[in-house]
Amino acid sequence: MTEKKKFRAVRGVRDIVPPDSSLWNWFEQTARGVLESYNFREIRLPIFEETELFARSIGGETDIVSKEMFTFLNQFTPEERYEDLQERIPEELSRDPGEGPIQALLEENSPQILSEVARAAARVRRPAESLTLRPEATASVVRAYIEHGMQTQPGLVKLYYTGPMFRRERPQKGRYRQFYQIGAEVLGASDHPAIDAELIEMLTVLIGRCKVNDWTLLVNSIGDANCRPAYIEKLREELHKVKDQLGPDSQRRVETNPLRVFDSKLPEEQPIIEKLPRISDNLCEDCQKHFADLLKQLDLRRIPYKHESRLVRGLDYYMRTTFEITSPHLGAQNALAGGGRYDGLSEMLGGPPVKGIGFALGEDRFIEVMQTAGGVNAKPTLDAFIVWMGEPAYPAALSLARRLRGEGLRVELPAEEARLKKALSLAERLGTRFAVIIGENEVSTGQFTVKRLDDGKQCKLPEADVAGLIRAAAPRN
Ligand code: AMP
Repeated sequence: MTEKKKFRAVRGVRDIVPPDSSLWNWFEQTARGVLESYNFREIRLPIFEETELFARSIGGETDIVSKEMFTFLNQFTPEERYEDLQERIPEELSRDPGEGPIQALLEENSPQILSEVARAAARVRRPAESLTLRPEATASVVRAYIEHGMQTQPGLVKLYYTGPMFRRERPQKGRYRQFYQIGAEVLGASDHPAIDAELIEMLTVLIGRCKVNDWTLLVNSIGDANCRPAYIEKLREELHKVKDQLGPDSQRRVETNPLRVFDSKLPEEQPIIEKLPRISDNLCEDCQKHFADLLKQLDLRRIPYKHESRLVRGLDYYMRTTFEITSPHLGAQNALAGGGRYDGLSEMLGGPPVKGIGFALGEDRFIEVMQTAGGVNAKPTLDAFIVWMGEPAYPAALSLARRLRGEGLRVELPAEEARLKKALSLAERLGTRFAVIIGENEVSTGQFTVKRLDDGKQCKLPEADVAGLIRAAAPRN
């Protein structure tokens, strides 16, 4: 007989299994609590979007868009193409006043004309659309902000999201092809530095709540449409002088997007990059003031930071404030969270003028830090294991299990009866706190034996009192 193929998770993706999943849940619940306390609300976004959304916002010259996106063609069914055309034809025709009579026929809804035009046009129109698994969520948030006209909402729009992101990076420790982020975005009319500082404060509060105490906040300003173009030209000029000493990626970027040269991790390029002019020395007055005010706002909140003038972040839509939080407990991939301001992204995506700032925290890496350096024990314990013996005990066991579970306790009720010794041994191996024993005697007296497994102490209690005893014994975490 040939051996059956065994399946494994594909390269770069993984399962989050118990007990780790408990820590993930604890973290996500804690994060929601912190974010909600700063008046952020959750937005649930689709996992895939039109490829162009990411290409246009993140930027074609970034690593993410140029080589890391999981993109696929979604072939339209003939029905979809036909519906698509029905929607588009009147719109197309209205652009051409010469087609007045056809327009009139269409308005009469002549099926003959419709199907004629549809058939002709379907041959040349989009046979498929290009979709991409989201590599990040800011572009989707801004797309949704525009689509739902959120600019009409009062005050700032404060949103958070959580879920998987997808990038075809070379898998290594701390770097996966499906990874999880929790992120928050503030959109609105104001770009006051206090908004930036409060967002960063929220992130540090979340990290502190998770008992992770050593981290470094790096901040920088990368200018705006006013000062960046002149700086880019200056940078390009300097880069031209040293172009021969750069690798092919950086050489290409000198022409397409010189700022990206700062992303280079090539050791031999580092001494060259160190000598390049820095954006922070080339900011216009407004950007300088915005950055100085941000630092003041951070001081006011007693948040320690380091000004890292090389921090440009790997996405094109950022401007002014950029920041990153790193951890000494991670290896080469030491960024826990990153973010920045993206005023103008909405306009780039065809929306109204709006200012925005956000961050994304990488959950995979954060959980790893929590496991190595954090003080949170989120492992749930099993509160009660019900040992029942003899068929008449089963209805009583069922009723007790339902009652304890209704009280929010974690309860295991074996499907089959077992000998007392065997059942208690299993309960112990499962890390149970209490065993409740129901046999013939217990059924007839209505008093259940409740045994504490850590010290073996036991007592008799009626069903109604069992939950109270378990609760009082030790609070669950
Ligand atoms: P970015 O959108 O690149 O700024 O990423 C924000 C955060 O997501 C980073 O600081 C990391 O913690 C996390 N992250 C990004 N890419 C990956 C990846 N491939 N695997 C695991 N975590 C990642």
